[in-house]
Amino acid sequence: MTYVITQPCITVKDASCVAVCPVECIHPTKDEPEYATESQLYIDPETCIDCGACEPECPVDAIFEEEFVPEKWKNFTAINADWYKKR
Ligand code: SF4
Repeated sequence: MTYVITQPCITVKDASCVAVCPVECIHPTKDEPEYATESQLYIDPETCIDCGACEPECPVDAIFEEEFVPEKWKNFTAINADWYKKR
């Protein structure tokens, strides 16, 4: 299980979630070069410990536990995971 960052993050990239993640599995962070070029942030499903700390921090409600990702944004589960596969 993992948490997933979805559509509302696009162009917002608030990054409040990054500060609260205990395992630093949300990237790119504001000090990484990809922050400028990526349209959203992503959660690494291999590292996420499913703690839920990030979800309430998001000002645009973009973060969901995997099984509660709205149907229209289900593709974001793969979008998050794929970003780490190409790193
Ligand atoms: Fe990090 Fe916890 Fe959010 Fe997973 S659920 S991305 S471990 S803050």
